[in-house]
Amino acid sequence: TIESNESRLSVVELADVSFGYTSTPVVEDISVSIDAGEYVAVVGPNGSGKSTLMQLLLGLLEPDSGTAELFGVDATAFDDGARVGYVAQRAGTSREMPITVREVVKMGRFPHVGFGRLSAADWRIVDRAIDTVGMSAFADRRITQLSGGQRQRAFIARALAGEADLLVLDEPTVGVDTESVDAFYGLLESLHDNGITVLLIEHDLQAVIEHADRVICLNREIYFDGPSAEFTDSAALARAFGTGAQTLTGGNR
Ligand code: ADP
Repeated sequence: TIESNESRLSVVELADVSFGYTSTPVVEDISVSIDAGEYVAVVGPNGSGKSTLMQLLLGLLEPDSGTAELFGVDATAFDDGARVGYVAQRAGTSREMPITVREVVKMGRFPHVGFGRLSAADWRIVDRAIDTVGMSAFADRRITQLSGGQRQRAFIARALAGEADLLVLDEPTVGVDTESVDAFYGLLESLHDNGITVLLIEHDLQAVIEHADRVICLNREIYFDGPSAEFTDSAALARAFGTGAQTLTGGNR
């Protein structure tokens, strides 16, 4: 049926991808396939190639060999940026961005309106996105005046305003106070329940095991790719992280 085809819609398709900034490969022979609606976490020690992998699958880097596809087209040629919401580590901490939450979220509409002005309908989408992430009370607050967790919510709202169906987050809870981390994961969960594909780089193994459905454990090569419940007692954990694996559980920063 059309429905079952839809549910297996491929979002990310990496086939035998290798890449190095120098002649030494940073990721080697990576094959990963992510379908629409999945909630996937990428884990690995510092320097294991997680950010590089994200950039490859977003088409920001070109593989030395192998192929990378995003929504079924070559990732480097992919140009429907609004479909992908990217939340960087410590997003929006720059002092050069003294703009308000609503202004940040408004940017999510730009791919849809070109150089035109936002319509009343666009503004409704903006305000709904702000409401979805629980930031309505802070809509006119400058993002530089927000906590780390609130800032990350604003950048998620920007992705929602753009109607992104893939959310890519690079260690989104770094710099977020511990009380806000659970609420943040609750938000990701509800977005995932609403059909958004979530792809997360996360250093906190405990959080990954609790929240993501699938774990990809990377250290140049893929050591594990499967249900997060099976990752807990996976030998891959020890192989990829070495004997210090347990010190990573619960956060290493
Ligand atoms: P992770 O995200 O897992 O910490 P990265 O993908 O950032 O790992 O880095 C993997 C390796 O590639 C590291 O050895 C890092 O020093 C190197 N690297 C990352 N970015 C660059 C770059 N722009 N130029 C050269 N080397 C880089």
